[in-house]
Amino acid sequence: MSTETPDTAGAGDAPADGQPLVRVDGLEKYFWENNSLVDRLLGDDPVAVRAVDGVSFDIQEGETLGLVGESGCGKSTTGETLLRLQEPTAGRVEFDGQNVYDLEGSDLTEFRRDAQVVFQDPFSSLDPRMTIGEIVQQPLAVHDVGTEQERERRVRELLERVGLSVEQLDRYPHEFSGGQRQRIGIARALALDPEFLVLDEPTSALDVSVQAQVLNLLDDLQAEFDLTYLLISHDLSVIRHICDRVAVMYLGEIVEIGPAADVFEDPKHPYTEALLESVPRASTDEQDREIETLSGDVPSPRDPPSGCRFRTRCPKVIPPEDIDIDRAAFRAIMDLRERIEGRDISLETVGEDGQFEFEDGRLAVGDRSEFVATLKERVLDRDLPARDDAIVEEALAELAASDWEAAAERLRDEYETVCERQNPPLSGTGTETRAGAGTGTGTGTGMEKAGPSSTSDGSSADEDHPVACHLFAESGHRAPESDSR
Ligand code: SF4
Repeated sequence: MSTETPDTAGAGDAPADGQPLVRVDGLEKYFWENNSLVDRLLGDDPVAVRAVDGVSFDIQEGETLGLVGESGCGKSTTGETLLRLQEPTAGRVEFDGQNVYDLEGSDLTEFRRDAQVVFQDPFSSLDPRMTIGEIVQQPLAVHDVGTEQERERRVRELLERVGLSVEQLDRYPHEFSGGQRQRIGIARALALDPEFLVLDEPTSALDVSVQAQVLNLLDDLQAEFDLTYLLISHDLSVIRHICDRVAVMYLGEIVEIGPAADVFEDPKHPYTEALLESVPRASTDEQDREIETLSGDVPSPRDPPSGCRFRTRCPKVIPPEDIDIDRAAFRAIMDLRERIEGRDISLETVGEDGQFEFEDGRLAVGDRSEFVATLKERVLDRDLPARDDAIVEEALAELAASDWEAAAERLRDEYETVCERQNPPLSGTGTETRAGAGTGTGTGTGMEKAGPSSTSDGSSADEDHPVACHLFAESGHRAPESDSR
C-alpha cells in the first residue's frame, strides 16, 4: 500500500544525522488547585499537582521508547504535553529540531500531522455517531488533504492495512469488537502519514488474546512506514514486546532509562526492580520465591516526599550510618513513621471491646504499657533489635496521649534517612550520557537524567549525591555521613 497521502509528502523532513526525532528536556506539567478567583479572594494559596516534574529523554527516528510506571505516575500527561495537547508548565520539547511550543500557523499544523496519538480506550475515543469511514477520513478532511475521491481511496487502503474490510466502511463503532475498534483508531492515527505516534496504553482495554495481535500490527506498521513510537503502558510485558528502550516513571519523574534488555535483565533502580518483581512468573521453580513487595501507596503529587520520591516505599531505603539494622526492619520502622505522620492509625480500635478507652484524647481506661504492646503487635509485623524496639515503644507511648507529633518526632529524630534529604541524579556512573542516551547503545548503567554528570572539581555527580544507592553499588563509593540541601 502506498503511504503517500496526496499532499503530505515532504511534511517533517528526516532529522539531521545523530539528532533525535524527539527531544524532551526538563518537561514539567503542573495542574493547579485552589487557583480560582474565589480562592484568591479567600486568601487560599494555589496548590501545584506536579503530574510531570522535570522529565528528559530522547527518541531516535525509528525507535520505540517505552514509558512505564504505575497508574497516576504522569505517563499519559507526559505524552499529551509533548504532543502539545496540553501546554507545559516548563521545559522544552523538540520535534525534528524545532521547539514544538514555539510553533505557530503552518508549522504547528505540520507538527500536528507528523505527530499523532492512539488512545487507550477504543470505546470512548471513536465518535459513536460517525461511520468508521468518516472517522478515518476525518483527519484528512480537517487538514484539507486531497480530493474526496483521494481521501476515500486512502481510507480503504488504511482499513485494509490494519486488518479490517472495506465492506465495513459504513458501519458504526458499536458494531466492532474492542480489538477492531483499536485497529480503527490506529488507521485514523495513520491517515496523515505521520512520523511519530504516541501509543497511550493501546492494548490495556483489550482481551489478552487480542493484545498480541494489536502489538504485532503496531510492530509491522512501524517497519513499513518508518514510524517512531512512544509507547505508554503500565504493563511490562507489553513494553518488553516491542520497545527498544524503556523509561521508568515514578511520581512525575523518570527514575531509570536505558536499553530494554538492560533494564529488564539488570535493573538499577529499586523501583524498577520492584516493578519487575511484581510480574507473575510462569515457572514453577519461582513460585516460592521471596517477593520484595512495595509498601504503601503512591504518594500524592500534590505533596511529593522530600528527597527521593520513592523513599516512602523503597525496600532499600538507607538507614542512618550509625544504626545497625537490617533492611526489612528499617523499612518497617519507616512505614510506621509514615503512618504516624499521616495519622493513619485508628487508636480507638486497639484491643478488645472496652479494653482501652480514650477521653479528651488520652488513654483513660486500660494499662498504658499494655496498650503500647497491643498497638505494636498491630502496626509492626516483625521483631526489632532491642534498641530499636525501645525507641518504637517510646513513640507508640506518645500515642497513648494522642500526641502524634511527639511520636513522629521521636522516630524522625532517630531514623532520618539520607534518602529524605537528597534526590539521586541518576547520571554519571555509566557511559550512557544525555547526548548518547537516545542511541540505545549505551553500555553503562543505562541511567540518564538531564543535568551535569560531573562537578567542577572533576568528581562524578554520584559522589556528590551519595544517596544514589543504586548507582553506589556499582561505583563502590560509600555514602558520607550526611549532606543536607
Ligand atoms: S535514594 Fe533511597 S529511597 Fe531512593 S531509591 Fe535509592 S535507596 Fe531507595
